[in-house]
Amino acid sequence: MGAFSIENARVFDGERLSEPRSVHVVDGLITEEPGADSETVDAAGAVLLPGLIDAHVHISDPEQARTLAHWGVTTALDMGAKDPGVIEATRGVAGGSDVRSAGFPAGPPHGTHIARLGFPESVGISGPDEAEAWVAARVAEGSDYIKVLLEPEIPQQPKPLQPETAAAIVRAAHAAGKKVIAHTTTGRTAEIAVASGVDAFTHTPLGDVLGVEFAREVASRGVIAIPTLSMMNAMATDWPFPVRPPGVSFENCLQSLRNLRAAGVTIVAGTDANTNPATPASPPPGESLHTEFELMGQAGVTPVESLRAATSTAADFFGLADRGRIQPGLRADLVLVDGDPTVDISATRAIRGVWIAGERVR
Ligand SMILES: [Zn+2]
Repeated sequence: MGAFSIENARVFDGERLSEPRSVHVVDGLITEEPGADSETVDAAGAVLLPGLIDAHVHISDPEQARTLAHWGVTTALDMGAKDPGVIEATRGVAGGSDVRSAGFPAGPPHGTHIARLGFPESVGISGPDEAEAWVAARVAEGSDYIKVLLEPEIPQQPKPLQPETAAAIVRAAHAAGKKVIAHTTTGRTAEIAVASGVDAFTHTPLGDVLGVEFAREVASRGVIAIPTLSMMNAMATDWPFPVRPPGVSFENCLQSLRNLRAAGVTIVAGTDANTNPATPASPPPGESLHTEFELMGQAGVTPVESLRAATSTAADFFGLADRGRIQPGLRADLVLVDGDPTVDISATRAIRGVWIAGERVR
């Protein structure tokens, strides 16, 4: 591995933008001083960002790692994978995004993830007394965090995962040092998630709004939100099920995010990007994180808040202490863009270069 210095770029360090300065990289790490025979990259007029983190993707093909990296997503957090072999293969893709995964998500034995999305039947969990063994199995498989599926109750349908089971999974996961992220698509399931003690919930409801009081509860418990507006907008635009319930609207998602933000809830950026045709919608890997920023902007999230949500804040929440900021000692995961994304977030699309652990990928 070599040494290089990016010169004359303004630097968004994960928190704020600096005047033009130098950023030095030696052997994959950001350093205080330039290395011997350091190559120079002149980046006048550009802004250097920490590599972007998408906190909600699904990897079904190792090639996705390269697509993500191409769009500046240097870390991708898989939120449920039906084939651990694919995740393993993805981790070996040269020039690909660095991947973490929940592995198999927790859902009931006959849940949609098994019935429709192709997850093995053996990963169904039927009650709280199975929680400890279920979490231990995921930890043994290498899950980096635990994903819990909280679906709404529908008459005549098999029962979704029950609140007491969710709470037992949270207890077991926390005892094992793992964070828990809940999939919630309604106000009621989001309430169950938060009452169960999860660390984060993902998605924002299309059919109702997370209210001001609930948002305050979320904030006071320190639970974070990963809104996946890209997924919700795609579903609202092209409803994927036979009957579109009245009241379904992307505006509900925006209003929920406004309420969460106003209450001071920490927001982490995530898209639900995937390429699995069996899912309700498929935001494109990599590109959709830039769409996510623009949609977050529609809810009043500022460009700087969006950038933090996909860099320093995401790294802090997921315990990725070696990245998410531009700072000596951290991994040289870097994205160089034209224009100023702290003023106009669409500038994150104008990518000049991407480096993952100091290796240039674009
Ligand atoms: Zn998802």
